[in-house]
Amino acid sequence: MDPADLSIADAAERLRAGEVTAVELLAAVQRRASMTEAILHCYLTIDRDGAAAAAEAADAALARGEDLGPLHGIPIAVKDNMVTRGVETTCSSRILSGWVPPYDATAVERLRRGGAVIFGKTNLDEFAMGSSTENSAYGPTRNPWNPDRVPGGSSGGSAATVAVGSAFGALGSDTGGSIRQPAALCGVVGMKPTYGLVSRYGLIAFASSLDQIGPITRTVADAVTLFEVVAGHDPSDATSYRGEFPDPRAESGRGVAGLKIGVVRELSGDGIDPGVLSAFRATLDALAAAGAEVTEVSLPSTEYALSAYYLIAPAECSANLARFDGVRFGLRLPGDSVEQLMSASRRDGFGPEVTRRILLGTYALSAGYYDAFYGQAQKVRTMVIEDFSRAYRDVDVLVTPTSPSTAFGVGEKTADPLSMYLSDICTIPSNLSGDPAISVPVGLDGADLPVGFQILAPALHEAVMFRVAEEVERLVGFSSRPALATSEGAA
Ligand code: GLN
Repeated sequence: MDPADLSIADAAERLRAGEVTAVELLAAVQRRASMTEAILHCYLTIDRDGAAAAAEAADAALARGEDLGPLHGIPIAVKDNMVTRGVETTCSSRILSGWVPPYDATAVERLRRGGAVIFGKTNLDEFAMGSSTENSAYGPTRNPWNPDRVPGGSSGGSAATVAVGSAFGALGSDTGGSIRQPAALCGVVGMKPTYGLVSRYGLIAFASSLDQIGPITRTVADAVTLFEVVAGHDPSDATSYRGEFPDPRAESGRGVAGLKIGVVRELSGDGIDPGVLSAFRATLDALAAAGAEVTEVSLPSTEYALSAYYLIAPAECSANLARFDGVRFGLRLPGDSVEQLMSASRRDGFGPEVTRRILLGTYALSAGYYDAFYGQAQKVRTMVIEDFSRAYRDVDVLVTPTSPSTAFGVGEKTADPLSMYLSDICTIPSNLSGDPAISVPVGLDGADLPVGFQILAPALHEAVMFRVAEEVERLVGFSSRPALATSEGAA
């Protein structure tokens, strides 16, 4: 077996058994990247020198008996909206082209402290705004299962690299579904933690009340591992969780017998493609056969969640992106006055989707409209939170398909932002509520494209979410890989 296809857990075990070295693991992902990058474009930057030095250091440390844990010596990719010291960080935007941050995001620092080898920075929709990775100023990423299709977004580069084996795992960020939806479309596992469990320090902000960093991996066990390494309180993030950290493994291995699983009625029928629904229903049957009590649950306000999100997220983005003014970071165009310099830099620096969001958000926050738009949206957000708490009185977890469709065609939705926005109909509610959610691959549709199954749990109840996720993985036994993930496929 090519080492690039090992899970993190297996690679870590072989590393300790002396069967493989960190330098060899890095060479394996490098080989896979060199076979696939020309087609897929998962990476904006591959840090060859930094990764080589980290892999050598990891081997030397293990030889000295220093073991930094389960990511020690494992090549991991990082979405390019997390700052990395000394390595260009662009958010896929022209406005940050050439910007080399002087510090590491807390999540990145935790990866390094855990011995991980940071292989490179992955492509995304500009400032994480999008569902297809087509809104990148540096060109789209393509889906490893079928390069005529999108990988989803905004963490499309992270999901595609994990699917094809040019990284063992990756970090993504999820504001409205950007970890889970691309994970679903690429046939890998993607998890959004409870808001506040992973520090946002050094994650370039899109919508601060919704943004959360999380893992993308090939197995549920690897997602737990990566999540544990990056999670934890951080005084540099004012919204970081301060209470006792919940043990994500507390319920591992207990199966689903007796668990109450609620199927969200509004998100599991109309508007969901038949190929997605049939894999979703087959998974429900497997869970029921394994002893889970599967019932239907209604979350009436989810109907309004998407609209509320598309006011709250742009409103926060319009404030957050005000800092990119051509003066402090990145692109600067000349102007006769500071005002001209700023407006020229912003006009040229931001792409059309980001510009649309800034305009929408500024409008929604402006005097006279604030109550009608932003204020209303916040009320809907409260209703969504109340719907969830009501539902969790009766069930342990909620489930939905992750995305209403499998991977759509490159260019298919770019002209119609609304149809693009609908990609996140199933993922957005848990961003509004701040609850954890995970997508697990459960099959292929008629076009041989992967389908994701989403499991949602109450805030801080990652343990039960992972427990169901690992059972879904075991019961369904999804083990297909894209043809590009084999040397023959890529050759
Ligand atoms: N697709 C959604 C959007 O465009 C979500 C993006 C995200 O989660 N970063 O806003």
